[in-house]
Amino acid sequence: SEELIRRSEKLTLVGQLAAGIAHEIRNPLTSLRGFMQLYLREDIDGSRKVRNDVMLAEIDRINGIVSELLVLAKPSREGYQLRDLVQIINHVTRLIEGQANLYNVQIKKELDTQLPLIRCQSGINQVFINILKNAIESMPNGGEAIITAKQMDGEIHIRIQDSGIGIPQEEIAKIGNPFFTTKETGTGLGLMVSMRIIQNHKGAMHIESEVGKGTIVEVVLPSAN
Ligand code: ADP
Ligand code: MG
Repeated sequence: SEELIRRSEKLTLVGQLAAGIAHEIRNPLTSLRGFMQLYLREDIDGSRKVRNDVMLAEIDRINGIVSELLVLAKPSREGYQLRDLVQIINHVTRLIEGQANLYNVQIKKELDTQLPLIRCQSGINQVFINILKNAIESMPNGGEAIITAKQMDGEIHIRIQDSGIGIPQEEIAKIGNPFFTTKETGTGLGLMVSMRIIQNHKGAMHIESEVGKGTIVEVVLPSAN
């Protein structure tokens, strides 16, 4: 039956996820372990500083993977709150300002002034952080990320548009699969987690993209009133 198929799909997904996590966490740990062993010896060639930076980067990477996964574990228990989307977006853009500056990316906001409240969990912040991060990372030579938010038929449509490298059509379907990444140091978890959170909010995500031109990620959320 349909239900059975859905269940077995879920089980496969959980297995894939577990295998992926083990793999993803083992790699940086192996690297950390090797460098730590070297660290105990003399700093003959003065490369301790380099190794130290690698160790810190690897630790940050493990932390990043684990916090992305923790967002997944949280939603079931936490309650919903009425929140103002403009405040959420302002908070998120403040958090991500540092990375945007690093990439020479300007973040522009065009948010309707009379937006209704949304009923949401704290994880909703992570959705916009993940989408904005991707937008920024798609523009290594700088550019603009434009966030718009509009009210339409009892829903709020939030769009994050970049003028970055874009996504080939055949890859769009793979987005949101656990560990699908095209980045050297990507985790491929950001949009999987984001889609889950949006699903919990009875919303939807749409991606439109053209290679070399840019990407629009649209999040649709039901309004609370
Ligand atoms: P990660 O960012 O760690 O790779 P994500 O789940 O956030 O994982 O994204 C998965 C993949 O989707 C990225 O590796 C990239 O190929 C593609 N992608 C997502 N957003 C964008 C974007 N705005 N522009 C170009 N590619 C994107
Ligand atoms: Mg990402």
